[in-house]
Amino acid sequence: MAAPVTARTDHLIGGERITGSGERIDVVNPATEEVIASVPAGTAEEADAAVRAAAEAFPAWAATPVAERAAILARVREGMKERFDELAATITAEVGTPITFASKAQVPNPLGIAKGVLAELAAGFPAEEEIGNSLVVREPVGVVAAITPWNFPLQQIVAKIVPALAVGCTVVLKPSEVAPLTAGLLAEIVEAAGVPAGVFNVVHGTGPVVGEALVSHPLVDMVSFTGSTGAGRRVSALAAESVKRVALELGGKSANVILDDADLARSVKLGVAYCYLNNGQACTAWSRMLVPADRHDEAVEIAAAAAAKYAPGDPASPETRLGPVVSAAQRERVVGYIRKGVEEGATLALGGPEAPEGVERGYFVRPTVFGDVSPEMTIAQEEIFGPVLSVIPYRDEDEAVRIANSTIYGLAAGVFSADTERAMAVARRLRAGSIDINGGAFNTQAPFGGYKQSGNGREFGRHGMEEFTEVKAIQR
Ligand code: NAD
Repeated sequence: MAAPVTARTDHLIGGERITGSGERIDVVNPATEEVIASVPAGTAEEADAAVRAAAEAFPAWAATPVAERAAILARVREGMKERFDELAATITAEVGTPITFASKAQVPNPLGIAKGVLAELAAGFPAEEEIGNSLVVREPVGVVAAITPWNFPLQQIVAKIVPALAVGCTVVLKPSEVAPLTAGLLAEIVEAAGVPAGVFNVVHGTGPVVGEALVSHPLVDMVSFTGSTGAGRRVSALAAESVKRVALELGGKSANVILDDADLARSVKLGVAYCYLNNGQACTAWSRMLVPADRHDEAVEIAAAAAAKYAPGDPASPETRLGPVVSAAQRERVVGYIRKGVEEGATLALGGPEAPEGVERGYFVRPTVFGDVSPEMTIAQEEIFGPVLSVIPYRDEDEAVRIANSTIYGLAAGVFSADTERAMAVARRLRAGSIDINGGAFNTQAPFGGYKQSGNGREFGRHGMEEFTEVKAIQR
């Protein structure tokens, strides 16, 4: 079973560890259904105290020389490297991420993101610009409320707090109440790196209580939110009252567009892997596979055979490729979508709503593949967030592009073709923020974010740092 979880679970407010007012939220290991820890159910008062601490710490942190901020953040990155195994084991214990994926992506990606930010600082970010008689400078936006989900609990936090702190903002983090332990470990690392009191604060708790208190707070200058599109809408509406800047990284229903000249076996197998990333719980998951109609049956057969190799099992075991989904509620949601797919007439090629065989406990879902999915079906439109693939046939390239662009989302996509130029031309027609051609590797320095209801703004690298700055023009 997973390594014991050692993370601190209290709030961090103004440099003080605060145990909270009494009520607690249990953290459950989704593979064992056991309670492994609990965190305080934070209150609006605790959120307020953290915001005040961040506001008080802001002027001095903003005025701290860049080299000093960079040295502290380099220590944060070193701390993550030193505690790599602990971080990976904690993610596996609270999210159910297979340990192999936690070690190959969930911890390395944040290290890459932090490295990119440090490189930008070293290269002189933010550069000043002359426009006519104006000097244009970038300054930190101020106090940032960072609100994050459970599925990549380290990456999503690092993608916000490292660039925000780097440019001179102070931060109040509200991590997901479903997976708050990774945030607890990171808070220890940040403290040990010498980040001054009040510059980085953590308040545990639920979205409606702590999240909304932060979003509505008059001393918060910016909200950086990652989560579901529904919660993102609510955050936007609340933030609009005080005209706060809001950056949103929301849901997705990404298409894998396999063109008629692609290597079908390779593109379908990779497509299944990208759909099932993190047990199907990745915002970028290629949950729709678009295939030429005359190769649909062959594609479904390859997909079902590839998906069948994802036997549900203990995520702490290095052999496991498919762990549980994060909670009982999430399992109900995913199984509900599988039933809906059957009801709406899609062909169930693998899996189904029944509990998988061979696992007695845990929130497991059968790896599922649907064929003959039409673009208007629920399973082709809504984010399922589980190991469920929808294979959709198309007649020609124009129709493939039209179907790919036919959801409210626009986060990511894949394009496969024997002709890279052809794939590039299709990539340019897709309304999504991040497109991989023939399995192009994830890049933690390139801007990451969504079109349409997948969000506003970009994370990672220079683009991610710009999000946390204000632009000032000084005329002479
Ligand atoms: P969620 O929206 O339920 O919760 C995300 C965070 O928002 C949590 O910390 C939660 O407590 C908080 N929250 C919820 N309601 C709130 C409110 N009214 N006000 C303020 N905060 C509130 O999402 P989740 O279930 O934790 O995560 C899964 C979702 O996140 C999926 O939709 C996924 O696509 C999305 N996601 C997007 C990206 C991206 O980069 N685009 C990355 C990962 C996950």
